Amino acid sequence: MTELAATTKVEECLLSAPSENPSARVSEYAEGSLLSMEQLSVADVAGILANTSHLERMTAAERARVLAGRTIALLFYESSTRTRTSFELAAKSLGATTTLVSDKSSSIEKGESLKDTGLTLRALGAEAIILRHPASGAPSLLARATGLPVLNAGDGMHQHPSQALLDLRTILLRLGKDASTVHAKTLDGVTVSIVGDILHSRVARSDAMLLPRLGARVLLCGPVELLPEDALGLGAGIEGSGSLEIERDFDRALRQSDVVMMLRIQKERLAGFDLDLGEFVARYQLSMERLAACAPKAVVMHPGPIIRGLEIAGEVADGQQSAIEEQVAQGLVVRRALLVRALGVTV
Ligand code: ASP
Repeated sequence: MTELAATTKVEECLLSAPSENPSARVSEYAEGSLLSMEQLSVADVAGILANTSHLERMTAAERARVLAGRTIALLFYESSTRTRTSFELAAKSLGATTTLVSDKSSSIEKGESLKDTGLTLRALGAEAIILRHPASGAPSLLARATGLPVLNAGDGMHQHPSQALLDLRTILLRLGKDASTVHAKTLDGVTVSIVGDILHSRVARSDAMLLPRLGARVLLCGPVELLPEDALGLGAGIEGSGSLEIERDFDRALRQSDVVMMLRIQKERLAGFDLDLGEFVARYQLSMERLAACAPKAVVMHPGPIIRGLEIAGEVADGQQSAIEEQVAQGLVVRRALLVRALGVTV
């Protein structure tokens, strides 16, 4: 099924659903669902990180008993390497049985709707569904249709909450902070720049909703085509959300940064866009020269996939300051805690 077809189908459903807000109140959904960063309070985030550390300290044998006998479905309508694999390995390490359904090679290709696919998975014993979908709001729809806890593994340009949590844990560890106890001042004095294609990035949205609430100063950096002024409203209305700033000059942003988070240009969402890639690279690529000159100590992050030579130079991605592989590893450990939370298990 094409991305467009999948989008149209879910949007039809969303239009007929009682609430069109993709981040609608979580109380409508099974407890344990994680649909958007805004549903988590700082105390919720602290609980997830505390459980992450607790699960990490267990032996492999102890961990394998935590979700033994439980069934988790992964439902992916968009490509994924890190998110899918880490959720799957996290579930398996906790002893759960997993099943993967992707839009290729399933009845989705024959036109089965998201709702019917979800109900089928539930009938087969799935107790939670991890969903990636090109349409914003698809996880809310699925959660409502099935009554199961749903973990949003990325929905369109909306949210990628588990990525924000793994980014947070990576930042805490890299900055030598306690990764088990966070509060509203944990990131006081820390400046994080998020750079590049902010407009299309669900990662940027989730990070921008999380990091300021823990005290971080977040600079958004990119050309106006990829970073409209209204990005400043991200997180507005969330209790305790800090302010965001826009800094269009990359070197100036870098000079202030403790952490720099580079983003891929999302070509799959660029339809109708006329972006001069040469100019983008000149102004916004994180090259070794730029990093050495402006931020020789900053932690370099990227949610992946990285496009070497475009938003980031290969030598920076492979260099000492890069925490990119650590982010991937943190994805596995943080997602364990999200699965445990989804299934309501106390550890
Ligand atoms: N992997 C991230 C996402 O799924 C970032 C990206 O694709 O560029 O949103």
